[in-house]
Amino acid sequence: MSSNKSKYSFYESVELYFEKAASSTKIDRSLLDQIKGCNSIYAMNFPVKIGKKIEVIEAYRVQHSHHKLPCKGGIRFSSKVNQDEVMALASLMTYKCALVDVPFGGAKGGVKISPSKYNVNQLERITRRYTSELIKKNFIGPGLDVPAPDYGTGAREMSWILDTYQVFQSDSNMVDAYGCVTGKPVGQGGIRGRTEATGLGVFYGTREACSIPEDMKALGLTTGIEGKRVVIQGFGNVGYWSAKFFMEAGAIIVGVAEWDGAVHNPKGIDVDALKKHQKKTGSIKSFPKAKNISNRKSALELDCDILVPAALEQQIHGGNAPNIKAKIIAEGANGPTTPEADAILIKKGVMVLPDMYLNAGGVTVSYFEWLKNLSHVRFGRMDKRFQESNNNELIKMVEKITDRTLSLKERKKLKLSGPNEADLVYSGLEETMVNAYHDIRTVWKKNKKTEDLRAAAFNVAISKVAQSYETLGIFP
Ligand code: NAD
Repeated sequence: MSSNKSKYSFYESVELYFEKAASSTKIDRSLLDQIKGCNSIYAMNFPVKIGKKIEVIEAYRVQHSHHKLPCKGGIRFSSKVNQDEVMALASLMTYKCALVDVPFGGAKGGVKISPSKYNVNQLERITRRYTSELIKKNFIGPGLDVPAPDYGTGAREMSWILDTYQVFQSDSNMVDAYGCVTGKPVGQGGIRGRTEATGLGVFYGTREACSIPEDMKALGLTTGIEGKRVVIQGFGNVGYWSAKFFMEAGAIIVGVAEWDGAVHNPKGIDVDALKKHQKKTGSIKSFPKAKNISNRKSALELDCDILVPAALEQQIHGGNAPNIKAKIIAEGANGPTTPEADAILIKKGVMVLPDMYLNAGGVTVSYFEWLKNLSHVRFGRMDKRFQESNNNELIKMVEKITDRTLSLKERKKLKLSGPNEADLVYSGLEETMVNAYHDIRTVWKKNKKTEDLRAAAFNVAISKVAQSYETLGIFP
């Protein structure tokens, strides 16, 4: 019988997907074992004074793979954090980086706290103490291991991490210290476009999948995003930004679910208005232009074309997968689908755009931020004006030859001014997501053993990691 509880832990489910894909490669078993296992696991307990008491905080940093350095992966603040979860998330990071050609090994951090139970000063103390633990054990540094935001953390926490790291550095190490963490505020070495990067990547990846007539026909859908009905689970960073980009491209956001409730409107929900309402009231419930859904979990089963799980892992399981009506599941969250649900969805012919590909926008733009930090120059600074004057000269010539002056509207469309940092980040991310999708799809269509996009994505990622060991000559 189908049940809500998977028989696999999160880490076991990643291992299962790995093995399924590994069997469709010709990679030697010993190398597969090296790729699969977590290279370093640091489990820690540290004391922090909270009010008048001392609390002992449980936390982790797992470096899944050292095949490329630095390691890279977000830090999660959640009461559900445990070693199995952090190992699973670190493993997914390795495969994700390989898929989008980001030259990092995978890592992940987790602090077992519920952030809403602490005030800002207490959160700062916990974050700084966690960072000190990482520094002490050499688990952080621009060339070693570079954290980023994840569930429950954002730019504020990243700025505390940077500041703590800088305090401990000698003068000679300071020059590259900004590269020790990404997702920072722009004023502290962050990059424009990082906040929305994961949601933007979810949008670019889904749009690419929806642009292929043959695949859409098989799902009974038309091509394009316009008019597609979308349901979002989790209205935080990834959920909100994905919803916003879908809405701006003409999709209809028919449902949004949060931990405490869900709202539904078949005619569409304005996600900016919903965000305002959430900020004002502390909840998405009772939004005037939508109906409350009494059972928030049933939001996943709403009638729609695209379902975007963007909250936590194991939300789509054996119990609800048979009732899911979406034709496309766009995995914004990490590990939202259990292996039991995956098997049901494959059988039903649902297209699952796997997490390790679809939410790679965050790490891709983090990579751009790290490059910016190490090169000490903002993207676009050197060539923006040069390109602008070149473009203007070209237009002047065209106008002269054609004896026609371009209208202001036409000039705007041509983007004559050179690209700024955000333009370059958006276009770099778009290029990355589009290319990676076709790498995965090619394997999906050509290799009969890869029956779905997840198996194909693992196949591509494992093969790329394996290649990086080739030159070492250790493995056959
Ligand atoms: P976030 O904390 O900004 O938002 C998560 C939201 O989900 C919160 O608003 C929370 O209230 C809500 N939520 C929690 N439990 C829920 C439930 N049962 N039903 C509905 N909503 C629920 O976190 P985020 O950064 O958006 O991360 C979300 C997911 O995306 C995580 O799996 C994370 O690992 C993954 N991810 C995040 C990034 C990133 O750049 N932030 C990158 C890649 C992957």
